[in-house]
Amino acid sequence: MTAKKFDYLINGDKSKWEVIIGLEVHAQVLSKSKLFSPSPTKFGAEPNTQVSLVDTAFPGMLPVINQFCIEQSIKTGLGLKAKINLNSVFDRKNYFYADLPQGYQISQYKNPIVGEGEIVLDMPYGTKKVGIERLHLEQDAGKSIHDIDPDNSYVDLNRSGVALMEIVSKPDLRSPEEVNVYVKKLRSIMRYLGTCDGNMQEGSLRADVNVSVRKVGDKKFGTRCEIKNVNSIRFMQLAIEYEARRQVELLESDKKVNQETRLFDTKKNATRSMRSKEEAHDYRYFPDPDLLPLKLEQSLVDKLKKELPELPDEKKERFIKEHNLSPYEANILVSEKEISDYYEEVIKKCDKKLATNWITVELFALLNKKNLSILQSPVSARNLSKLIKMITSGKISGKIAKDVFVKMQVDDKDAEQIVEKEGLIQQSDPKELEKIITKVISNNKDKVEQYKSGKEKLFGFFVGQIMKASEGKANPQLVNEILRNKLK
Ligand code: ADP
Ligand code: MG
Repeated sequence: MTAKKFDYLINGDKSKWEVIIGLEVHAQVLSKSKLFSPSPTKFGAEPNTQVSLVDTAFPGMLPVINQFCIEQSIKTGLGLKAKINLNSVFDRKNYFYADLPQGYQISQYKNPIVGEGEIVLDMPYGTKKVGIERLHLEQDAGKSIHDIDPDNSYVDLNRSGVALMEIVSKPDLRSPEEVNVYVKKLRSIMRYLGTCDGNMQEGSLRADVNVSVRKVGDKKFGTRCEIKNVNSIRFMQLAIEYEARRQVELLESDKKVNQETRLFDTKKNATRSMRSKEEAHDYRYFPDPDLLPLKLEQSLVDKLKKELPELPDEKKERFIKEHNLSPYEANILVSEKEISDYYEEVIKKCDKKLATNWITVELFALLNKKNLSILQSPVSARNLSKLIKMITSGKISGKIAKDVFVKMQVDDKDAEQIVEKEGLIQQSDPKELEKIITKVISNNKDKVEQYKSGKEKLFGFFVGQIMKASEGKANPQLVNEILRNKLK
């Protein structure tokens, strides 16, 4: 593959600028209970109904580590091809906020559970590896609600203590598009693993986006700004575009970029300052005295490694080899585990090439139009497989298949039954076809003359008439053959 040169650059008035991005993704661990308490984590519960005394920081209550959350983050680390640290430490990150009753968040600072790893991105200009700096476990805070009552703020502690994995990338990303592919790939890996549902609307996946710019050719990174808590990929991209331009304008007018924390205003599509480096909190990190250092057995890591499912990169390689797919097709089909499952179910009993086309074109168009996930597909894999089998066996034409596909969308109606009941079977009997063709020819004598005197484009016209006369059921290949002979 000839990789087209990558070129997301910002043209300033004076120079060309490169954009440098690093992401800190907060991914909620898929777990029925919280990191240090047995409270449930269901989304959308009534405020303050999923809160135990530990989550409210009632004096004397002690955190008890949730083994399942630990295993979930080890699995995620393994999925990121990262080093698992057998010794890690939980620290207190101290700050005051109304939705943080403890007065500190339990997090991991110097010794995280997972070290360096990587994620491979498939970009139009080739594959690109993005380094992972670390993954650490931490508690989520509660939620302050300011928009119910003009005079009061409310606090909902349902999220308080929910387990988050903070996944920190190296500053390896270079464009909003790479960020898009990075977040989707990370989410896909975690969904394959079942360690995070990646549901951004429900806040299960959010990111702090670090952005800096440097002149093309410069080796040193510029000063970065960190845009906090962005909860959609689109907003991340808009925030980066805005922020990079803002920094370029500052630097080109000989001003400095201040290292600061900024917020993305989704109404103005702009970032604005929240606090500068000087105002940055001193979190006074120290090891939580209520929790022992976390020591893992290598045997546990080995066991979890053995149990890992096939992940998107491996599945892609297998699909290319086993099913003869192009890298592009394979990429689409492995992007979500459910899509790859659907595909593999369809091809159990029909042609792979045709199945790939039907899934990536017709089925995806349908799902897009109706805004459905593949799990909600109105057409089941088995039924689509039947449809495709009828095309390859010549029972129905590709054109008729599209009509049948529309009918299948109501209650997943059986493809074969539709074809039988509505008499849609392709006409492949040469004698029958000849009758129709002869009739069309004798009805259009003038056009036959024109065709014979060189107007070859008319061939399509005849085919069209024949298809119409057969109500779309004539076998197009046979029609072509017979017609060509007759017109000689
Ligand atoms: P902090 O803990 O203060 O947020 P880190 O060193 O952990 O700082 O970095 C946080 C994120 O910032 C990482 O994802 C990293 O890749 C990114 N980053 C670091 N330097 C830069 C830079 N100059 N430009 C853009 N991103 C950067
Ligand atoms: Mg940070």
